[in-house]
Amino acid sequence: MNDCLFCKIVAGQIPAAKVYEDDLVLAFNDIHPAAPTHMLIIPKEHFPSLQDIPQGKLPVIASLFAAAQKLAETTGIAKTGYRTLINTGPDSGQVVFHVHLHLLGGRKLGKLG
Ligand code: AMP
Ligand code: ZN
Repeated sequence: MNDCLFCKIVAGQIPAAKVYEDDLVLAFNDIHPAAPTHMLIIPKEHFPSLQDIPQGKLPVIASLFAAAQKLAETTGIAKTGYRTLINTGPDSGQVVFHVHLHLLGGRKLGKLG
């Protein structure tokens, strides 16, 4: 996708602190961390939001969560607990329109608003 920030990170055109990569997904540290551990896990293929993933491509969501499990283990937050979330559309506050799974942990997280 021409003007997508996260596609540019996938293509190596914009730097990111990468923490995990496989054929389908890439993970990197969030540039404005909201918790001691705050990573974003994205499909390498561009989908603007969860709503835009066609049924046949939904298995990529399982790949995002598989990466989240691995990263939770390697960072130690699997033991203390963590939150995963995907913002979708205006009311969620989604600002980057390339699907991403937030992985947050390392402190007691507040209730969701
Ligand atoms: P969302 O509100 O779910 O769309 O969240 C977008 C997230 O992307 C925010 O937490 C931002 O801090 C993060 N972000 C924006 N630009 C970058 C970047 N260049 N590298 C890493 N994270 C970024
Ligand atoms: Zn994209």
